[in-house]
Amino acid sequence: MSFTQIKYDNSLGNIKCDMCKKNFIHDSTLFIPNQSLGQVCERCYIKFPADLILDCLTLFANYGGWFGKLKDSKVSLEDLILESIDIIKCTNVNIIETNMRLRHKALLYGYLPEALINKIKEMNF
Ligand SMILES: [Zn+2]
Repeated sequence: MSFTQIKYDNSLGNIKCDMCKKNFIHDSTLFIPNQSLGQVCERCYIKFPADLILDCLTLFANYGGWFGKLKDSKVSLEDLILESIDIIKCTNVNIIETNMRLRHKALLYGYLPEALINKIKEMNF
């Protein structure tokens, strides 16, 4: 997997990083995945593994939001997981769709997929 790097300048308009939603500043670098789902800033490019960035950009493109958008809400991973289980129990919703939505929601609250998996293991269903 690779990213195209370009320098941001004002002619590109008011665009933001699709991971953290911060504005690009003049002369900073944009990282654009080949799959062209959006763009990320240098900070996010360094902070997150490439496959996680792609996964996030896909989920954010489908369901909206960005990493950590709701992180001040102090909702626990356990609550998110239990809520998803309730949805599966109480509705006919597709389990794959519910799984995607859970991963997406965890990202909005600033939880990485690894933390989500570890919490599910820890809860020992
Ligand atoms: Zn960013």
